[in-house]
Amino acid sequence: MSEEERSLNFIEHIVEDDLKDGYGKEDLRFRFPPEPNGYLHIGHASSICLNFGLGLRYDSPVNLRFDDTNPAKEESEYVEAIKKDVSWLGYEWDKECYASDYFGQLYDWAIELIKQGKAYVDSQTSEEIANQKGTPTEPGSESPFRNRSIEENLELFQAMKEGKFGEGEHVLRAKVDMASSNMLMRDPIMYRILHKPHHRTNTDWCIYPMYDWTHGESDYIEQVSHSLCTLEFLPHRELYDWFLDQLVDSKKLRPKQREFARRNLSHTVVSKRKLLQLVESGVVSGWDDPRMPTISGLRRRGFTPESIRNFADTIGIAKRENVVDVSLLEFHVREHLNKIAPRVMAVLNPLKVVITNYEEGKEEWLEAENNPEDESAGSRKIPFSRDLFIEQEDFREQANRKFFRLKLGGEVRLKNGYIIKAESCTKDVEGNITEVQCTYDPKSKSGSGTEESLRKVKGTLHWVSVPHAVEAEVRLYDRLFNDPTPDGHKDKDFMEFVNPDSLNRITGYLEPSLKEAKVGDGFQFQRLGYFNVDSDSTENHLVFNRTVTLRDTWAKLEQKS
Ligand code: ATP
Ligand code: MG
Repeated sequence: MSEEERSLNFIEHIVEDDLKDGYGKEDLRFRFPPEPNGYLHIGHASSICLNFGLGLRYDSPVNLRFDDTNPAKEESEYVEAIKKDVSWLGYEWDKECYASDYFGQLYDWAIELIKQGKAYVDSQTSEEIANQKGTPTEPGSESPFRNRSIEENLELFQAMKEGKFGEGEHVLRAKVDMASSNMLMRDPIMYRILHKPHHRTNTDWCIYPMYDWTHGESDYIEQVSHSLCTLEFLPHRELYDWFLDQLVDSKKLRPKQREFARRNLSHTVVSKRKLLQLVESGVVSGWDDPRMPTISGLRRRGFTPESIRNFADTIGIAKRENVVDVSLLEFHVREHLNKIAPRVMAVLNPLKVVITNYEEGKEEWLEAENNPEDESAGSRKIPFSRDLFIEQEDFREQANRKFFRLKLGGEVRLKNGYIIKAESCTKDVEGNITEVQCTYDPKSKSGSGTEESLRKVKGTLHWVSVPHAVEAEVRLYDRLFNDPTPDGHKDKDFMEFVNPDSLNRITGYLEPSLKEAKVGDGFQFQRLGYFNVDSDSTENHLVFNRTVTLRDTWAKLEQKS
C-alpha cells in the first residue's frame, strides 16, 4: 500500500491535530522503547512500524530507547538482538538511548521532589505497603513514614544510594494521593534497592528507578513529542503527567503519552515472558527457532522484512485488542516470495521412475526458467536422466478423471522436460509401490519448438534426476500451538496447547543447482512451498526450512487446461 492510498490512522490524526494546534514539524520526535529482557516478536513489529513509520511520514527522528531499569532480567545479548531486528526490518534510528544513561539525572530529580515535599522514603515491607493500597472502591491508607522530614528523607535516600541498606529495607515513594480513584496514583514507588549489577552501569547503582518514574522523564530528556505505548498503560497516563508536572520547564517540549491496542497473533503467544518459557523448557531450540513468532525466528524461517512490514501495515493500528489470524501473515510472505523467490525442483517423498526408452547412462541438461514473475531472473540448466524421482502422491495405479497426475496408461508432462507415460509399476511384499516404469516422448521436450513440445497434457509434475540429486534435511513446520488463543484460557496453561508435531524432519532430494545455496537464501520448491537454507547448514549437510506452503496454484492450472 502506498502512503497516499492509506487513510490516516488515529495516532496520525492526533499528530495532525497537534500540528494544527501549533506544534512545528521540527518538534516531532518518536521512539521505540523495548525493554531488553527478551527478543522482539511480531507484536513489537507493529509498534516498530508505527513509530518508524511516523518518522518517515513526517521526516522526524525516531530514537531506539532501551528501557533498561531492571538489572535482574536484562542482558546485553537482548540489546544486540533487538538492534539487529530493528535494522533488519529496514529502519534506521536517530539516537541509540538507554534509560540507564539517565540514572544520574533521574536521581537528581528525585532529590528535587524530596526537597519539594513530593517524595518520601518508606521503610515498610512490601506486604505492608500492599496492604495499605486499598481497593478500586476504597481509598488506601497513609504510610506511617509519609510525613518524614525533608532532611530525614534526603539522608535516607542518599544512604540507600550508597548501599547502606539491604534489598527491601526502604523504597522511595512519590507523595501523590492515597485516596485517588486511580490506584496507580496512591503514592507509587519510584525507587527500590537491588544489589544486582546492571548490564551497562555495572555496580554503580544499587537503587533502580521504576518504569513510571523513568519512562516519561526519559521521553522528556530526549524531547520525544509523542510517546506511543500499548493500552495497558492508559491508567499510567495520569502518573506520567503528574511526574512531568513536577519538573517540566515550560520552554521545553512536553511529551504526551498516547495508547494503541496490543497486537496478538493466532496460534501463538506474544509475550516475552511466555516466549522465554518456551525457550527455557526446551519446547523450541531457542529464541530464533523457526516456529517462534519472534522477528529472529521469522527471519530464520524465511520471512522477509517487506512481508512483515506489509502485514503490520495491513492490520494497522487499533483502539481495541484483538487476535489477528496467522494466515494473514502467511499471505503476505507468500505474496512477496512469489515475486522474488527463484523456482527450483525438489522431491520430498520420493518415488522412483525409470524411463525405459531413455538410454542408460545418458544425461541431458534442460533449460528451466528461474521465475515466471520476474523475467530478469533468467534461467538455469537442470539434468535429466533415465532414473528420476517424483512425489509418491503424484502416482496412482488407478484413478478417476479428476486425478491429473500420473496413473497407469496416462500421460503427464515433467516440468521443463518431456511428456511421459506410465506403463507398469513394481511393488514390495507389503504392496507399496517402489518403482514406476514409464516411456517418454522424445519429441515433446519443453521449449524445443516442435509441435509435440506444445502438446498439452492435463498434469505437470516436478521431478529430480536420481544420480544428480542433492540430499538435504528438510524441516517442515506446523503451528506451534494447537489452539488459536493458547493463552486465552482461564483454566489452562498455554503450555498445555503446545503442538507435539510442530516439527517434522525429512530427507529431501533437490536439483543440483541448490548445492550452491547459502544460509538464508530462499526458493520456491515448485508445487511444495517456499523454503530457505537454515543456519544449521554445514558444508556437508544442507538444511532447509519450509517457510510456508504454497497455495496449490498448479492444481488450478491443471483444471483449466
Ligand atoms: P511483552 O509482554 O512481550 O514483554 P512488553 O510490552 O513488555 O511486551 P516492551 O519491550 O516493553 O515489551 O515493548 C516495547 C514496545 O513495544 C512498547 O511500546 C510496547 O507497548 C510495544 N509492544 C509490545 N508488545 C506489543 C504487541 N503485542 N503489539 C503492539 N505493540 C507491542
Ligand atoms: Mg514491558
